[in-house]
Amino acid sequence: MNKLLFLLTVLFSFSITSQNTYLHCGKLIDTKNGKVLTNKTVVVSGKTILSILDGYVTPENSEDIVIDLKDKTVMPGLIDMHVHLESELSLKSYIEPFILNEADIAFNSQKHAKITLMAGFTTVRDLGGSGVNVSLRNAIAQEKVVGPRILTAEKALGTTGGHADPTNGRSKVLMGDPGPKEGVVNSVDDARKAVRQRYKNGADWIKITATGGVLSVAKSGQNPQFTLEEIKAICETAKDYGMQVAAHAHGDEGMRRAILGGVKTIEHGTLMSAETMELMKEYKVYYVPTITAGKSVEAKAKIKGYFPEIIVPKALAIGPKIQDTFRKAYSKGVLIAFGTDAGVFNHGENGKEFGYMVEAGMPAIETIQSATITNAKVL
Ligand SMILES: [Zn+2]
Repeated sequence: MNKLLFLLTVLFSFSITSQNTYLHCGKLIDTKNGKVLTNKTVVVSGKTILSILDGYVTPENSEDIVIDLKDKTVMPGLIDMHVHLESELSLKSYIEPFILNEADIAFNSQKHAKITLMAGFTTVRDLGGSGVNVSLRNAIAQEKVVGPRILTAEKALGTTGGHADPTNGRSKVLMGDPGPKEGVVNSVDDARKAVRQRYKNGADWIKITATGGVLSVAKSGQNPQFTLEEIKAICETAKDYGMQVAAHAHGDEGMRRAILGGVKTIEHGTLMSAETMELMKEYKVYYVPTITAGKSVEAKAKIKGYFPEIIVPKALAIGPKIQDTFRKAYSKGVLIAFGTDAGVFNHGENGKEFGYMVEAGMPAIETIQSATITNAKVL
């Protein structure tokens, strides 16, 4: 029960009184054992859960507070392994890099963080932004603003012209030549420097874009974009600095290299072959499906003018495939870590992913476990 206790504590992170709070829970989800318990009392003191008792226990101390949740289901805070708190996809997304200042991004991200917390997600892994996500993490940890606990990748790593090259699709005058400092890698040495720079900037995780992606202004959404040697150098350096690596990947070859190179999670995994699913299991790599993002970009691609033209065919081809890949991966026993890619759709709608996972054959209780005890273990 310890993990459950630990996760529940976050619900009360803003309480600082010495009073105890007694939660009378009609139903209580025990994520460790995958069971729904009934008629339980959770006793909380400040940020700590003291005990979980049978029945509805009345406190002896008259100072203590009782909260009646007898007609509710109480559960640990949810964890989303893939969000982008700095931004939210809209018609303005492709002009925003030219009109927003850092402070604008900071205010936007504060709003997104609060919505995410209120949607039940008490911890998130932010897989890439401009670096404001590091400041947001710190501000939340210091209780200056309200939001979930954040583990952040700061800026995602890519290759020149790759999915995380920040100047993709710009006119040559505005392209410049970003390098490892900006997260753009073109050699093993660059790879090491880019990871060390992320560490210096305050990242908790490293994110690489192992293949092309849907929303970058570039032709391929699935080509491999790093060499195996570069990925190995990234993973080894990350390990030296106490970090793990998450790999965005739609195409199978880039995914295969990422797994062999030593990443911990594969994001999206759209075109994952049966052989790569076996490799995932062998290397104990977790699959973070982000089905909601796939469905969302597909729907937006059908609105004329929503995306730059080059993105439309990619969104239509890749978006709808993720749910079926998830179905196959789950049935083959690939490890599943809940993650949505919120920011590609509206923040706060992260919970939609549960429905899509159930629709694809995962029992409801297992989807909750993937978003709680499994993700806690991975992080
Ligand atoms: Zn993402």
